[in-house]
Amino acid sequence: MLPRNIAARLYCAGGLTLASLAVLSLSAVCYVKWTELVVVRVKEHAIDRAGLAADIEILLERHRRIVESAPAQPDRDVIDHNRDLSEIIAGSIQTKVQNAPDPFLQPVGAHLQDLVAHARRIFDLTASLAKDESAGAVKDYVKAADRMQDLLQLHREHSLEVAERHVTGLVARGQSLTKWFTAAAILILICVGPLALIIISDVVRRIKSITESMRRIALNDTALAVPSTHDHDEIGEMARALEVFKRNAITLLGNTQEIEKLNGWFDIALNNMARGLSMFDAERRLIVCNRRYRELYGIPDELALPGTELTRIAQHWLRDAADTEAEPQVTLDNWLSRLERNLENGQPFLETHRFKGGRTVMVNFQPLDDGGWVDVHEDITEKRLAEARINELARFDTLTSLANRHHFLEELDTSLAHANSGGTFALLWIDLDKFKAVNDTLGHPIGDALLEVVSKRLRECARGTDLVARLGGDEFAVLQRGDAIGESQARALATRLLGALATPFLISGHSISIGASIGIALAPEHGTEADDLLKNADIALYRAKTAGRGTCVFYSNEFEQTIKARRQIEVDLRRAVAAGELMLYYQPIIDLARRHVTGCEALMRWRHPVKGMIPPSEFIPLAEEIGLIGVMGEWALDQACRDASGWPAHIKVAVNLSASQFAATDLVAVTRSALVNSGLSPQRLELEVTESLLLKDNAGTLQTLSQLRDIGVAIALDDFGTGYASLSYLRSFPIDKIKIDQSFVRDLPRRGDCVAIVRAVVDLAKTLGMRTVAEGVETIEHLDQVTAAGCDEVQGYHFSRPVPAHEVVAILEGCGRRLQEAA
Ligand code: C2E
Ligand code: CA
Ligand code: CA
Repeated sequence: MLPRNIAARLYCAGGLTLASLAVLSLSAVCYVKWTELVVVRVKEHAIDRAGLAADIEILLERHRRIVESAPAQPDRDVIDHNRDLSEIIAGSIQTKVQNAPDPFLQPVGAHLQDLVAHARRIFDLTASLAKDESAGAVKDYVKAADRMQDLLQLHREHSLEVAERHVTGLVARGQSLTKWFTAAAILILICVGPLALIIISDVVRRIKSITESMRRIALNDTALAVPSTHDHDEIGEMARALEVFKRNAITLLGNTQEIEKLNGWFDIALNNMARGLSMFDAERRLIVCNRRYRELYGIPDELALPGTELTRIAQHWLRDAADTEAEPQVTLDNWLSRLERNLENGQPFLETHRFKGGRTVMVNFQPLDDGGWVDVHEDITEKRLAEARINELARFDTLTSLANRHHFLEELDTSLAHANSGGTFALLWIDLDKFKAVNDTLGHPIGDALLEVVSKRLRECARGTDLVARLGGDEFAVLQRGDAIGESQARALATRLLGALATPFLISGHSISIGASIGIALAPEHGTEADDLLKNADIALYRAKTAGRGTCVFYSNEFEQTIKARRQIEVDLRRAVAAGELMLYYQPIIDLARRHVTGCEALMRWRHPVKGMIPPSEFIPLAEEIGLIGVMGEWALDQACRDASGWPAHIKVAVNLSASQFAATDLVAVTRSALVNSGLSPQRLELEVTESLLLKDNAGTLQTLSQLRDIGVAIALDDFGTGYASLSYLRSFPIDKIKIDQSFVRDLPRRGDCVAIVRAVVDLAKTLGMRTVAEGVETIEHLDQVTAAGCDEVQGYHFSRPVPAHEVVAILEGCGRRLQEAA
């Protein structure tokens, strides 16, 4: 029944109380009004009427006395006087009756006429002295007067009765009003009082428990259940709001814990950073700094407290730690004003702090939006040293301590800039001959030692203004600088260099003879750009090498033509491979003991549509250089096997392999497929390799050669004696045959040492169980000498020049015939 809302309940209770009071007050007012009314009524109806009746009675009594005493009055005058008096009194009564508001007196008026008539008769009779008759008239008069008196008395009593009735009613009303008053007061006391008390105590109790909850939540006791949350009044709303507050408090508490945890981590991270860190506010007071920062600047605990002024910290490190001798310009004021200027820019900036004892710290300042900043301090002492070292390494060759390619190019640019304003210089590009062979046969340590001595000799030949550099491997360069450097100065230096390198080197007991080739480009004559100058020196070097090594060549514009021509061949060769312009010629190989042809060597030819037949010496090295040799070699192997499959079964075919083919293709697979495609027996195939191959990658080469051997293919070592002969590989590689280079055979008739060499090779081969072939047997003299030396086989123009494939069978027959005849 009660409203749910406390305010409504309190308003209800208050309203009820006010209503009750209003009713009571109204009742009191009514009662007073009513009492007033009753008093007026009593006065009007009872007292006034009773008074009028009493007045009339008094007048009647006087009238009666006058009239009744009239018969006994002897005096006539008195009688007349009494008559008049009675008439006046009767008139007065008449007036009063007429004026009376009460109709109740109207009968009195009627009786008065009667009475007045009796009185007049009495006076008349008395005046006429008729005593007896007047006495009888008196009796009538008395009767009338008595009746009138009775009426008046009745009227008076009636009035009093009315008054009494009014008063009694008033008393009764007063009493009932008192009862109602009491009842109302009791009702108010009984109903409103306890209700208000209940409401108030309930509200107070619940507010108390909510207050308690609030207090506990404020103390972070979030486990409690908030009371009254299901109530529908204001306290319920308050409780629900408190519940929300509690949930927020829980979240806040969680966040706070999270933040505390994060702060802990942050603290750990900050103090375990390898770099120093500090943070200052806009007032230049320390916010935070880490351990590393304190260590770097030797900052005591009291200066590491938040709020410490920057000036105090700066003063401390400038006095105790900074290397003020190295940087005397750094004073506190200087430093602070520079810092302020830099901070004003709002951009990050760097500073280097130098410490006593040589330490260097790099500081990275990061201004913050609020006017403060963060600075990160890194000890870069080691880094600086390493940088210097790296710089050194980046500019100088570690092995020879000569300038490296990078530094050389830098210096070249500088010299060119100088040349552009009138200076001259020469660029000498030096390439060692036979260095690779030294490295491969005597090992890298000897090779390295050789390079060191070479560098020393080069340096000795150069002047202080020149720059000697190692460009990589066995390539060196000298920037010859000075006043008016021209061809004669460059040539003199080149000659000195070649002379120095031509002198044998004695390294670890080995006497090593190498030479060098030098290409020279003059600046600005041969180029004003580094690239041009380098390219031209390279061209000159290439020329020097092809001109027969051990020489120096100056760049010339004509070389360009050669290069262009070479490029043209390159283009043509690519086309030739695709267009099938390549072909194989064959040259027979003769077994001296059995005096018959044992096989033919396949030699590649290029029938150029314009230039005609081009020899392999012109296009094979190019093909190797431009990476075409793989395809070409594959084709040659395949074609040779096909051709040989048409020959008599005892004729073998020998195919030349380039060293680069070993790297470019899977030779074993290529050989297998050539054999399969042609159906040629592996025993009829011989592969010719050069010494340079054996010098390259020992493990890989050995594996490939062994696999080829396993298939059944024979391996011949071609051009033996032209490379950097190391006999050790003859033992370690699976070689069946040694082909003695034609240069030895050619000189056999004139040079005794050649005879000795050929004999030595033949003997060695015999000991190793290998056969020997003498190449380039052009004359009968050659044949006799190689036969005398004990060679097993021969090959040369004396028997046949290389011939096209279709002529092979005829050549075989011709040779056979000639051999039989000679026998
Ligand atoms: P090589 O393997 O030493 O071949 C022998 C060279 O000597 C051939 O020259 C041949 O014509 C020449 N010759 C033979 N008998 C005599 C002689 O009595 N006197 C003189 N002066 N020369 C003689 P060619 O055909 O010009 O081949 C030159 C080189 O080209 C070959 O030397 C070989 O290294 C290379 N070559 C030829 N064909 C191929 C090939 O198919 N693949 C590879 N990789 N190289 C090949
Ligand atoms: Ca050959
Ligand atoms: Ca050869």
